[in-house]
Amino acid sequence: MTTPSPAPESTIVDGIHYHQHDIVIVGAGGAGMRAAIEAGPNASTAVISKLYPTRSHTGAAQGGMAAALANVEDDNWEWHTFDTVKGGDYLVDQDAAEILAKEAIDAVLDLENMGLPFNRTPEGKIDQRRFGGHTAEHGKNPVRRACYAADRTGHMILQTLYQNCVKHGINFFNEFYVLDLIMGEIDGEERPAGVIAYELSTGDLHVFQGKAVIFATGGFGKIYKTTSNAHTLTGDGVGIIWRKGLPLEDMEFFQFHPTGLAGLGILLSEAARGEGAILRNSEGERFMERYAPTIKDLAPRDIVARCMATEIREGRGAGPHKDYVYLDITHLDPAVIDAKLPDITEFARTYLGVEPYTEPVPVLPTAHYAMGGIPTNVKAEVLRDNTTVVPGLYAAGECACVSVHGSNRLGTNSLLDINVFGKRAGNNAVEFVKDAPWVPLPDDPAAFVRGLVDDVRFATGTERIATLRKELQDSMDRNAQVFRTEETLDEVTHVIADLRERFKNISVQDKGKRFNTDLLEAIELGFLLDLAEVVVYSARSRQESRGGHFREDYPTRDDENWLVHTMAYLTGDAHSSLAGDHIRLDTKPVVITNYQPMERKY
Ligand SMILES: Cc1cc2nc3c(=O)[nH]c(=O)nc-3n(C[C@H](O)[C@H](O)[C@H](O)COP(=O)(O)OP(=O)(O)OC[C@H]3O[C@@H](n4cnc5c(N)ncnc54)[C@H](O)[C@@H]3O)c2cc1C
Repeated sequence: MTTPSPAPESTIVDGIHYHQHDIVIVGAGGAGMRAAIEAGPNASTAVISKLYPTRSHTGAAQGGMAAALANVEDDNWEWHTFDTVKGGDYLVDQDAAEILAKEAIDAVLDLENMGLPFNRTPEGKIDQRRFGGHTAEHGKNPVRRACYAADRTGHMILQTLYQNCVKHGINFFNEFYVLDLIMGEIDGEERPAGVIAYELSTGDLHVFQGKAVIFATGGFGKIYKTTSNAHTLTGDGVGIIWRKGLPLEDMEFFQFHPTGLAGLGILLSEAARGEGAILRNSEGERFMERYAPTIKDLAPRDIVARCMATEIREGRGAGPHKDYVYLDITHLDPAVIDAKLPDITEFARTYLGVEPYTEPVPVLPTAHYAMGGIPTNVKAEVLRDNTTVVPGLYAAGECACVSVHGSNRLGTNSLLDINVFGKRAGNNAVEFVKDAPWVPLPDDPAAFVRGLVDDVRFATGTERIATLRKELQDSMDRNAQVFRTEETLDEVTHVIADLRERFKNISVQDKGKRFNTDLLEAIELGFLLDLAEVVVYSARSRQESRGGHFREDYPTRDDENWLVHTMAYLTGDAHSSLAGDHIRLDTKPVVITNYQPMERKY
């Protein structure tokens, strides 16, 4: 371990704070902090986060982290790779999936060495449990592959990473909102020069100059109303990259997790089904037996969510309005429930008033995970097209698309992804900054953000942010959820165009500088509108059904025409209200190594 050179003191010029760090990491969730643990000891590193690090959404993750440790059953990384590829409906880049599955073992051991208190087997090994789509021998039967700490695995990961960042003396800038990426030029090549952040407590602007910038800003589930995602998951990082004219990959693929609490969307981890919970319709039937006879309730999420929606559509939904199904754990021993699923059973009691020991819990699919995002290669380097790297710019975690999840992520593969590719982003950034020059900043680097913030703060329009956000989320739930058609996607396209117009006429009540969350929610809504539009536009274009994207008007997978990634680019007049006037779609080949696409049966 080398000692990083100390960062120069920050300076203030014309009211703007200037900082210089070799590596600037945006986001202090699992991916950002895993990168920081590699970067911090080897280069001057700043981690900027709009949340206090331990409030990042990684901390809400419940069920587990996949790795073929084979601690309790025969397993190996090759089966894990196959499951990941098949689970992603063959849109996965197989070279990346191999890395994910191989490096999973060390990723878990790294966390164990950092002090993470995993659940243990009686012999003292890290215990493992079942999760959807993870199988032995290429689909023969479910396998215990998920390492876990009760149903608080993400909480433990986040706390462990944070403690280790503190140990390494990483510089955190908490409650700083990054609102822009500054690009500059070296030898005719566009590179990142730094980022601009808004300090929540003061309203001051900060310029962070960096030789390398890593985006680890998480997902954007808040484009939907019914979602497991926290209020803050508004896709800022993905939105910033988009506005820079860099592409976004596979945005049409959003995962709907089968078991959100009905009416609320709060997640009940798949760990419940991993421990033996069963989905039942109004007739008490274990309906998944009909759809996935081999692995039943542990089929991948896209399949289970669709089966649930089908049961409800065909009149077998439960409850007074026949609009949900049940998750039944009443047959499990209460001691097992308390030991392995304490948090989620408490959610059912608190939010629905249901006692999971004795009553089935009403559940419905909930928007959960963005498979798409900022395209990267396996070194976590951001791509400006299908092959060209933007030197010095990295992305990892849910904001990135590498793509290990293809069109549908397997449960427990995201906590894995943030560790494997967060670590890679950190290491590769360290190598990069060793002999990379500083990219000169423009004269007034904060000009764009100052304008953005002032426009919102002093806006005197008539539209309210909460109203516009609700209309967006309602329409996304209605039109771009588990089932989609050209008609529903057209409808939401028009809703978004209308909302973009109305967004020009907003006002925020708080005109102040300190803790102005009104102002930031307005800016976040801007990102949500941009990203929802790319999701819908990409979904409208993809005339097939694959993974999380199900088109009722094109209900089958079409490998001949659509075994390709979608690459969306912002072009033309960004302010025109019609998506087709400012989004261009292209395709990118899928990397296939060992597994030719097959019919996906479970
Ligand atoms: C309820 C729930 C349960 C889950 N359970 C599991 C599970 O059991 N297993 C599994 O594999 N996956 C699970 N997932 C998915 C997984 O937790 C996430 O995909 C993953 O943790 C994302 O990590 P991340 O580091 O990419 O982002 P996050 O943890 O979301 O962190 C994002 C960071 O970016 C920062 N940020 C964002 N915007 C800005 C900005 N503008 N300026 C500055 N900072 C910014 C935030 O402050 C935050 O620190 C679950 C997800 C949810 C919602």
